[in-house]
Amino acid sequence: MPVVQTESEHNPPVNRSYFARISPDDGGCLLEKYSEKYHGFGCALLANLFASEGQPGKVIEVKAKRRTGQLNFVTCMRQALENHYENKPVGMGGTFLVQKGKVKAHIMPAEFSSCPLDSDEQVNKWLHFYEMKAPLVCLPVFVSRDPGLDLRLEHTHFFSHHGEGGHYHCDITPDTVEYIGYFSPAQLLYRIDQPKETHSFGRD
Ligand SMILES: [Zn+2]
Repeated sequence: MPVVQTESEHNPPVNRSYFARISPDDGGCLLEKYSEKYHGFGCALLANLFASEGQPGKVIEVKAKRRTGQLNFVTCMRQALENHYENKPVGMGGTFLVQKGKVKAHIMPAEFSSCPLDSDEQVNKWLHFYEMKAPLVCLPVFVSRDPGLDLRLEHTHFFSHHGEGGHYHCDITPDTVEYIGYFSPAQLLYRIDQPKETHSFGRD
């Protein structure tokens, strides 16, 4: 869960990132602060990052409670943007809090799969899935539609102050779930190291 302030003229670099791993003892979640073990910032496989100058200004506040459909919170916002802006891709980033309820999450095993994973089924077998409970601080990045760059359209990782963290899939408590979030639209989209060969699984 990358949360980084890069070095600038007036500010030192600050790494407030977390990472989650699977406990070798009981298979549970171990959430740790990145900066306790690592001073640099590495990226393995993929990351969806939202960069901001951190200036004060207007943001978009979204509050939601009770889920009446099948889609998760981020997909609802993403599809609302797509319905409104149609062919024009709109990217957003920010933070939302799962205030009440539980979510379905995954954590990747520390060891990469020894054989290639070529279906959603195989990816899901390799990942470890959990139920995690509010309050959860989520860091979403989403784009309303893909302008032909082979993007993952939404990606949300979260941390908490009760030792849980991971990749957000959806809430599993539609009647009691509550969300509040603050978002900012992006001005530029950078696609770094687009793979030459692609596939469509493992994108939720
Ligand atoms: Zn993820």
